[in-house]
Amino acid sequence: MNTNHEKVALVTGANRGLGKEISLELCKKGYAVFMASRDIEKGRAAVHELCEQGYEAIFLHMNVTDPVSIKNAYGTFSQKASHLDVLVNNAAILEDSDRHVSICKLNIESLERALKTNLIGPIMVIQDFLPYLEKSKTGGRIINLTSDLGSLAHMQDSYPAYSLSKTALNAMTRQFAAAVAGKNIAVNCVNPGWVETDMGGSGANRSLEKGAETTIWLATEASPHETGKFWKDKREVP
Ligand code: NDP
Repeated sequence: MNTNHEKVALVTGANRGLGKEISLELCKKGYAVFMASRDIEKGRAAVHELCEQGYEAIFLHMNVTDPVSIKNAYGTFSQKASHLDVLVNNAAILEDSDRHVSICKLNIESLERALKTNLIGPIMVIQDFLPYLEKSKTGGRIINLTSDLGSLAHMQDSYPAYSLSKTALNAMTRQFAAAVAGKNIAVNCVNPGWVETDMGGSGANRSLEKGAETTIWLATEASPHETGKFWKDKREVP
């Protein structure tokens, strides 16, 4: 399917959780949404659900830890779309073994996996898709999903691998914002709060809709001059 939509978005890790909700909300705002997933079956099922509701959702096979997979996704994307307005780097991991461990005992392989998925993946995705973001008529917008646990202001001895990967993601967001200044592309981070997903677990105090809210606002309403910032509940967090 080729998309003739004027507004085009790409969301990684879109088969469940916040990625799926963000995709749905962007569809409701009139975007054609490329829903990228590493799992073909689950990814297609999520796309099918949105298409059945009359939205334009397109499946994209992408494992963010695999540069060849990202390049292949780029190839598929470029056959179907002429530009990209919104890129949401949502895919991430939080391993159970990371939940209750001190940095003193941090397993280095676990740290490597977290950095590969939560930091290096988004960097590779942005690098590859920048040419299409530059073609956006409205100005490209990149939104990286981050966490309180990545904030230097909240640093504690918990979730060390995840925490370090999100802190680095925050720094990477500033670096890309500086790198693309003047190209009409805004790059920001969003902390969605504690959301009811597989990662958020039971007890989370936010619905999917609430968790997606600030990302959708940044993608569609916020001033394009807002860039290189960390947001929660539509407010800048220092
Ligand atoms: P989930 O664990 O529910 O979903 C994670 C998604 O990322 C899944 O679709 C998963 O795919 C995908 N994913 C993981 N690794 C890869 C990979 N290598 N390639 C492609 N996709 C991958 O997480 P949430 O929806 O809760 O979180 C979404 C974002 O929000 C994350 O960046 C997270 O860090 C952030 N966040 C979430 C909070 C919360 O309370 N939920 C709080 C703060 C931040 P698969 O199904 O194949 O595993």
